[in-house]
Amino acid sequence: MAKDERFDIVIIGGGPNGMTTAAYLAKSGLSVCLLEERTECGGACETQEPIPGVRIYPHAILMYASAAPGFEQLELWRYGFRMNWDPMDPTTDANTALTCTDGYRMISNKDMEGWAILGGMLGQPPFTKELLRATFWCPPHPPEVEVTDDNVPYMQVYKQHLPEVWTHELREKTMFDILDEYCETEHFKTTMAYAAWASGAAAHWEGVAIPAIACAQLLTLTNTGKTSYPRAGMHGYFHAIHRCAVHNGAVIRTSCPVDEILIDDGKAVGVRLRETAASGGKTIRANKAVIAACDVHQAFLKLVGPGHLDPAFIRNIKDISLKNQTLYVSQFFTKKPLQFNTKFKKYAEGRGAGPHLVPNGAVYPVDSREIYYADVADVDAFKTKPTIDPKYKMYFYAPSLAWDPTDCQGYHPKGHVSAPFEMVLTSPDYHIEGEDAPDKYKEENNAYMRKCYSYMFDGLDDDNIIHHWTASGREVELRNTGLIGGTWAGSRHCEDQLWGNRPCEGLERYRSPIDGLYHAHQTSGHPGGLCLMAIPYNLMHILIEDGVAEPGKWWYAAPEYIPQEGKISADPNKKSKI
Ligand SMILES: Cc1cc2nc3c(=O)[nH]c(=O)nc-3n(C[C@H](O)[C@H](O)[C@H](O)COP(=O)(O)OP(=O)(O)OC[C@H]3O[C@@H](n4cnc5c(N)ncnc54)[C@H](O)[C@@H]3O)c2cc1C
Repeated sequence: MAKDERFDIVIIGGGPNGMTTAAYLAKSGLSVCLLEERTECGGACETQEPIPGVRIYPHAILMYASAAPGFEQLELWRYGFRMNWDPMDPTTDANTALTCTDGYRMISNKDMEGWAILGGMLGQPPFTKELLRATFWCPPHPPEVEVTDDNVPYMQVYKQHLPEVWTHELREKTMFDILDEYCETEHFKTTMAYAAWASGAAAHWEGVAIPAIACAQLLTLTNTGKTSYPRAGMHGYFHAIHRCAVHNGAVIRTSCPVDEILIDDGKAVGVRLRETAASGGKTIRANKAVIAACDVHQAFLKLVGPGHLDPAFIRNIKDISLKNQTLYVSQFFTKKPLQFNTKFKKYAEGRGAGPHLVPNGAVYPVDSREIYYADVADVDAFKTKPTIDPKYKMYFYAPSLAWDPTDCQGYHPKGHVSAPFEMVLTSPDYHIEGEDAPDKYKEENNAYMRKCYSYMFDGLDDDNIIHHWTASGREVELRNTGLIGGTWAGSRHCEDQLWGNRPCEGLERYRSPIDGLYHAHQTSGHPGGLCLMAIPYNLMHILIEDGVAEPGKWWYAAPEYIPQEGKISADPNKKSKI
């Protein structure tokens, strides 16, 4: 019988969080084995080829990571990472206009100035990067530290760089409250609110005003206002991390679903692969740690199993909702490219991209927050197929040919691949008719979406469309098995997830009740669940504290990080109280 394999670290899941963790730990000199269930790594950062030669991005499109320390620490430029630095000029007239039901409306100087103040762009020097890092790329404070207005990381950044913005209320308000103070027009506020809601921290939730604003800020390249779009798409970005992990010695295995986390005397000591895995039923041992980079329910309710966990902890895990809205992504393969319709012709002159002036990204329709609230009520309260008049249903259309001409989504000899359109609909799990309802209504929903998009674009008629692809939660056509309940935000960023209180007891700071078992997935994000490279960077602090990792001189800790008493400090300049 073959001997079990041994590595220092075993990682379950090859999505962005698992792979980035693998890269960090392999670069720290540890032997790492990453196991991915599917035939390809990448999780929700994937490119698909639904018909030969036509490639589309079914999920992630813009990069929520531009402020991440990982770019420097993992030296991603050495592994082929390239940014599209000039996808659009944010200062042209068309780009300071927003799309409403009656045409486009300009944003005001007060909007731009207020947004720039809140985002740290007018600081001397600008401090956007520091603000975003403090919001997402910083581990939660240790349990013994009381969280106050003074030590919440983003509050520290405001206090240092812009004391006049720092108030106690900043931690209690909604994003709309703050936008009403600093900005002017409804259409600007509604656009940013929708960007935040679709990104995970909604504009109407109390207590997450700054994380919600930061979510919208993440869509742009730090300090430029330009959309944050990597060359070769999000899978291209992912490839750079994958290459970094492999270059530093990580072993990556695909078609290897994990079925069990092995526990010995209260400590995670390895994993057992599913019988159907490429190396069926095999055991892989971990000398130092097992890292679950798959969803929190699967990790603790299935892979660990109840025998090893306290019933109260299991109850808490069950209480973590993985359900939220679902971002339905639509992409069109058409004979002629989609065009802005007459109402938006002038807008298109400055905003259309490429030789066909195809749509460049924005949100529609953003007349007022009433439209936003109606959309929220439809998705989060009525929980059925859309009931809103299609004229008023909100959506994103991503920057299509904002990307490089060599991009795989560029022109195709037999047609045109559209920008992805993204619309928020009720998650299958919450649908009042049951989780199969979105499949049942797929064609109806698709037709509804085409109607909504037609209020802005020509070319969505049957004669012109060759294919309409949708990724709709549990719907199977472009299903990503790594997605959680069809939602991309994973779990709601609510009071118990961001700086106020902590997530469920036992899961603080990416640790778990099982020694040597850590968690690194968007569903346990605290903070920064969907923020690329945030969890792995934050987790590194904890692995250093626990003596698992000892990175080299390339490592630096978050400035606002507080070491845990009795642990090794992840910042050589800050002593823990041992
Ligand atoms: C529709 C949509 C749009 C998005 N848009 C953007 C965007 O524009 N910009 C952006 O930055 N982010 C975006 N995101 C979010 C981003 O894709 C996620 O934050 C990111 O994928 C989370 O990575 P993860 O590793 O935590 O999880 P996942 O990507 O879900 O990866 C988990 C991996 O674990 C594997 N796995 C699960 N169980 C097992 C098992 N038992 N054994 C082995 N492997 C297992 C899965 O197959 C999967 O590959 C979007 C997501 C979605 C769904």
